[in-house]
Amino acid sequence: MRFAFRIVPYEGREVHPLQNSLKDIVAQVLSTNDIVDVISAHLQLKSAGGLRFKGLCPFHSEKTPSFSVDRGRQAYYCFGCEKHGDAITFLREHNGLNFREALEELANRAGIQLPAFSGGGKSSDGQRAELLEWGKTAAAYYRDQLASPAKGAPAREYIKGRGLASETVKRFGLGFAPEGYGNLTGYARSKGVSKALLESSGLAKRGDRGLYDTFRNRVTFPIKDVTGNLVAFGGRDLGDSPAKYINSPESPVYKKSRVLYGLFEARDTLRKKNHAFLVEGYFDLLRCFDAGIENVVATCGTAVTPEQGKLIKRYVPECVVVFDGDAAGTKAALRAIGILTGVGLTVRALALPDGNDPDDYIKAHGAEAFLALADDAPDFITFYVRMSASRTGTIEGRTAVARELFEIVAEFEDGLRRDEYIKQLADGLGLETHSCLREFTRFLEERANRQEWQSDEPAYDGAPIEICREDRDFVAILMGDAALLDKAKEELSKLDLGEGALRDVLNALFSGGGISVIDTEEGKMLFASSANMELDVKHPDEIVKERIVSCKRETLRRQSNRLMEEIANAERSGDIDSVLKLVQEKHRLDQEIDRSRN
Ligand SMILES: [Zn+2]
Repeated sequence: MRFAFRIVPYEGREVHPLQNSLKDIVAQVLSTNDIVDVISAHLQLKSAGGLRFKGLCPFHSEKTPSFSVDRGRQAYYCFGCEKHGDAITFLREHNGLNFREALEELANRAGIQLPAFSGGGKSSDGQRAELLEWGKTAAAYYRDQLASPAKGAPAREYIKGRGLASETVKRFGLGFAPEGYGNLTGYARSKGVSKALLESSGLAKRGDRGLYDTFRNRVTFPIKDVTGNLVAFGGRDLGDSPAKYINSPESPVYKKSRVLYGLFEARDTLRKKNHAFLVEGYFDLLRCFDAGIENVVATCGTAVTPEQGKLIKRYVPECVVVFDGDAAGTKAALRAIGILTGVGLTVRALALPDGNDPDDYIKAHGAEAFLALADDAPDFITFYVRMSASRTGTIEGRTAVARELFEIVAEFEDGLRRDEYIKQLADGLGLETHSCLREFTRFLEERANRQEWQSDEPAYDGAPIEICREDRDFVAILMGDAALLDKAKEELSKLDLGEGALRDVLNALFSGGGISVIDTEEGKMLFASSANMELDVKHPDEIVKERIVSCKRETLRRQSNRLMEEIANAERSGDIDSVLKLVQEKHRLDQEIDRSRN
């Protein structure tokens, strides 16, 4: 895959995009982010002397720190669970990001404008960056309007009436789009934002007389994607518009189905909890955060999608769907349950009493009462059966509900858990447990037959990687001693080091590169574990000397083995002269190998 680096065009001149390889860009992003800073944002690190830091591992539970970060090598390694890597790996594993998202987050941190990945063509790469930049500008404009003494007064009054702490309002960057059709549009013009960009951002629409503001007389909510890019806005009407809430339309940076409101802010807390709350509205989410409940995400007016479910599942295994207990809310909750279990989440459903939404409920009863209700929220089967009460009066109705639940239960991979759910649904519907289990087995078989024709090859999970201790000590010594590294480089860089982790790591060290220039997982692991180990050896120079000798011997042995093959080939073709020459050569090599042993 390649990136297209786009130089910001000036004065309308077309600039040819400079092609940079992915590796260069990754190296640039990594070199402008210190891994210690990146990791410190998520956990507490203490100095362990020199460039080394230690902390409690975020990937396994422990009481004494075995998670080690090396500033010099820009790598981390856990001696407990062996998780390891560079800043990108850390963000992927810790924040549940994919490669691109992790790279983007690091680039954002360092203030680098990352060229977008190709795929949409170069022009859309450039447009993406421009749209994200314009989104930030527009958010700042809306915030200024909210703060403006006269203009912003009604919006400030409204927000005050909702009873949110000013920190929450600030943290989520709420703003105000004033009454009128040309406010933001005029501002954009004054900033030199092109009409095309303004229109494709969705913040202005095209009418008979040109572009006009999409958001008018509304409180605005910036919507971020999982890496914190500002991709869209939501707006709450302050007048008498029939649409109380509106969202930005989809744009090159905003795909509704892939964004959850609040996820960026909830990320860190989600990782520490085992469940997420899924609520519907902006104020529901803001109220939760305001009350100190930060493992919450919101859908904001759109039905839950599988993509959103997968986003949640990156962080937690369980989702509590919170909704107001009216008919529409219940219907939406039932639908959400099917989708969320479909991506492998355990789902519970929390219907708030008296048609309250989370905002009302927490405002009236407090966070503790809400969390107590959540603790008692029924699992999806109980909930589903309860909500299908109108149909369960007849046998036909009951079996129909059972079959709908089969579809959901079948999505779980754990067989024991499935059986438990089936027993539970039989119980709840007043059906016979054994016949339910039998029916479910038949249902699974039919389903498997259907899927056999559609399935892909299962992904191969490689065997666990083991690090050779001698290799690790050797590399750690070289990393800690420039003179020994020079010596090793001088002796070894011309040798044939065969294949494997050690060769990859030595090549990286000899070329002055870091962990990011190593391609293999084995190599990365050896590098990270060596960089982070506390070395305690008496005579490092002896170890290096021995290792150099054994590397040389290995090289000779490989040469000897190759000669053996050549001799066999020459014999087969009857080339006696060559055979004699090769045998002599091999004899010389073998003697050299013997000598190197003493
Ligand atoms: Zn660990």
